[in-house]
Amino acid sequence: MNKVVFFVDTKKLDEALNNFNIKNFSGKSVPVKLHMGELKNKHFIKPDFTKVVVDALKNVGAMPYLFDTTVSYSGKRHTIKGYKEVAKIHGFTYKNIGCEVIIDDKGVIVNVQDKEYEIADHIFNASNIFALTHVKGHIATGIGGAIKAFGMGGVTKETKKKMHHGSRPIYQKDACTFCGVCAEVCPFDALNVENNSWNQDMKNCFGCGVCIDACKTNAITHEDADIQYVLACAAKACVENKNVIYLNELKRIAKSCDCDPSTNPIICPDIGYLVSDDPVAIDKASLDLINDVKGNIFEKENKISPYKQIKFGEEIGLGSSSYQLIEL
Ligand code: SF4
Ligand code: SF4
Repeated sequence: MNKVVFFVDTKKLDEALNNFNIKNFSGKSVPVKLHMGELKNKHFIKPDFTKVVVDALKNVGAMPYLFDTTVSYSGKRHTIKGYKEVAKIHGFTYKNIGCEVIIDDKGVIVNVQDKEYEIADHIFNASNIFALTHVKGHIATGIGGAIKAFGMGGVTKETKKKMHHGSRPIYQKDACTFCGVCAEVCPFDALNVENNSWNQDMKNCFGCGVCIDACKTNAITHEDADIQYVLACAAKACVENKNVIYLNELKRIAKSCDCDPSTNPIICPDIGYLVSDDPVAIDKASLDLINDVKGNIFEKENKISPYKQIKFGEEIGLGSSSYQLIEL
């Protein structure tokens, strides 16, 4: 059973990290994988806490740098230059944190479960990685935690796009009852069902797969695969055979992800921090702690089960959902 360490006071960070052989990071160049936030988003991991983590890595002799990848949608973070500008606006600078910020736009193909994922160069080449993840809800995947941080955040924008496209719905008229549920749950208004006709606006479809889960007659299926399945596979492509320590921050727990520039309400009170060396265990522990405080809040808010990526992650050998929680 894998260990997940829980603490509230950041002074306990070193003790938490010592549970996972942090000394092994000594002498290594270590990407600290984190989401530095979309412009106007307010809930991403903060620079002051990031510095605490970076200092803890330096204290064991590691050479950390902040790391993320460009995104597939339009906006500043679509390019390396634009993402670096956003990082600077949000306070992720050498002066504030004491290390470089590196953004990747290119990668290396890795095969998992007979599908190809293009993994960011710096992730591919690293032996040791630190995953610093802000836990929040997500419109397409229920939760944005450690699995998603790599499954979407560790791959190139071409792979991100492919994963979303593969999760778009394919329609079979014969099985459709024209109940309209798929159109009601679509977060992007990409479906219209009326007068016994089903229409999809491909332009608006984000490939979240929420409609597919909601259809009770299987009249819509994935073009290729469930996004939460490919998310787990892509995460495995990123972290397999590497030394990875995961830190999940359960604070400012918002309805949707750090890519969301809208008001994005907080839906659960602050809980604390988790550390583990298993992405499945730490995300399961995060969900369990959040559910203890606020019921099944992610699924209620985003109409999609966050447990799918846990289940898929376990099935493909990314990690284990069984864990022992150690409170400091
Ligand atoms: S939910 Fe399924 S059955 Fe209902 S309208 Fe949509 S595709 Fe048809
Ligand atoms: S995949 Fe998502 S965005 Fe596309 S039609 Fe279905 S619910 Fe709407």
